[in-house]
Amino acid sequence: MTPDELKKAVLGVKRWSRGDQRAPNKPLMMVYALARYIQGHDQMFSYEHEVEQDVTALLKRFGPSRKAYQARYPFWRLLNDGIWRLDNAQSFMPYKDNADPPKSLLIANDVTGGFSDEAYKLIIKDTAFAIELLESILVESFPDSIIPEITAHLGLEFTYKHLQKRDPKFRREVLRAYNYKCAVCGFDMRMDDMAVGLEAAHIKWKQFNGPCDVQNGLSLCSLHHKMFDKGAFGITDDFKIRISPAVNGGDWVKKLLFDYEGSMIVLPREKQVQPSASFLDWHHSEVVLSACTSHL
Ligand SMILES: [Zn+2]
Repeated sequence: MTPDELKKAVLGVKRWSRGDQRAPNKPLMMVYALARYIQGHDQMFSYEHEVEQDVTALLKRFGPSRKAYQARYPFWRLLNDGIWRLDNAQSFMPYKDNADPPKSLLIANDVTGGFSDEAYKLIIKDTAFAIELLESILVESFPDSIIPEITAHLGLEFTYKHLQKRDPKFRREVLRAYNYKCAVCGFDMRMDDMAVGLEAAHIKWKQFNGPCDVQNGLSLCSLHHKMFDKGAFGITDDFKIRISPAVNGGDWVKKLLFDYEGSMIVLPREKQVQPSASFLDWHHSEVVLSACTSHL
């Protein structure tokens, strides 16, 4: 196996998906293992003592909301992707009709898992490659604004390099449509003729085939962009701001977010470039609800 083949295999990992639903379980499991390798961890991870706690925490914080967070799914299912190894599991493998074994069985047998021998060798031989791999997985699964939070959560200190090419046309068209203002708060600072702190946000994430079209964009200041990508607020089909019940905070949160609840965003003058309802609905169900399902 060459580094390129490994990268291809990692990015080609089969993700569980139903339509457009987010399922970052396997990416987060791989990112966790890669981060620990970079920090000097050996090849295998104990399900009971490491994965159960650490990967569940990652899924809770960065995955969509589910009734229960099951670190055992990606831990077990990555085996089918040909780049993973499980030890102490031979006696019950494959598990009944390819179902997933219960947590208790993984713990009772002290099952450990990690990248396959071949993959592990390539990863530890070259830290720069390990970082590149980790970044590629993140870029495929999460928007830019969230990636630094994940690397910080994992205790990684490297600066995240942007591997994907940006589309300058998207940014220009979106900011222009919104008259170079944040659609939520109207922020429009310029230094001479350069907009500062203003960004073109994708409503439906690029990672889920959200197109680089103005109808899938919003012009937002950096802070509202971050809040939007985290699901702190969404926008209804009639363009009103609705805030996730998960949000809390003091005076500044009131000023910067709660005070806008129910108000209309600033819309482009031309109707045909206003945000499309199907993208707003995707954002609501996959990003906003993921921050608040437990409250409904
Ligand atoms: Zn703003």
